[in-house]
Amino acid sequence: MTGPRAAEIAANLAEVRARIEAACARAGRDPGEVRLLAVTKTFPAEDVAALVDQGVLDLAENREQEAGPKADAVAGLRPAARPRWHMVGRLQRNKARSVVRWAAQVQSVDSARLADALAKAVRAAVEVGERSGPLEVLLQASIDGDPERGGCPLDDLPALADQVIRSSDLRLLGIMAVAPRGTEPAAAFERLAGAAERLRADHPSAVELSCGMSGDLEQAIAHGSTCVRVGTALLGGRGLASP
Ligand SMILES: *Cc1c(COP(=O)(O)O)cnc(C)c1O
Repeated sequence: MTGPRAAEIAANLAEVRARIEAACARAGRDPGEVRLLAVTKTFPAEDVAALVDQGVLDLAENREQEAGPKADAVAGLRPAARPRWHMVGRLQRNKARSVVRWAAQVQSVDSARLADALAKAVRAAVEVGERSGPLEVLLQASIDGDPERGGCPLDDLPALADQVIRSSDLRLLGIMAVAPRGTEPAAAFERLAGAAERLRADHPSAVELSCGMSGDLEQAIAHGSTCVRVGTALLGGRGLASP
């Protein structure tokens, strides 16, 4: 794709990559340790194709109903590319069967019941040839324990992790969180980093810490983020109606 929109996306991407590099330099970290996940919710498949053309192959959505059709549309636009789709939004158990058709990874697992539903869905999808392997899972942590916004309270993460590792259809990779509204992100990310450290001590392969978005990726990288999820800074504002 060429044209003004593709050029705008390419320029935004260069800026985001420069921010990540600068934050890594300040933190004494290797930029190769921080994955950029492009959050493409509310934007059309053509925009996603422009990101894919720029080498961005880690893509994320927060609503199952929007993501499945968009993943198909992007595959139609760029049949040779093999992007990996990540679910980062709240997921109802009755959507498990659909999400495992397109998602390589679900970052928003916040209850044992959801983990069970996903494990069953993976097994069913593998049986009928809709998937070839296990689902990568991140536990969504609620840093302030506010149940309104989803996420598992930090104290309950060990039990949830134990539930996930019991299933051979799920692969526990780490923790994801959103900084709570109205608090200093750095303080929130520090608490989160402590929880990630404890999870890693119990489960050495759970190395991912997904935190940091357009507004706070620098603080997240300073506190050990291995995956920043960026929407607005890449694709622009989503308006008031969208989450
Ligand atoms: C929308 C969203 C993002 C991206 O937020 P921006 O501020 O647009 O970068 C990250 N994580 C989750 C879970 C989201 O829903």
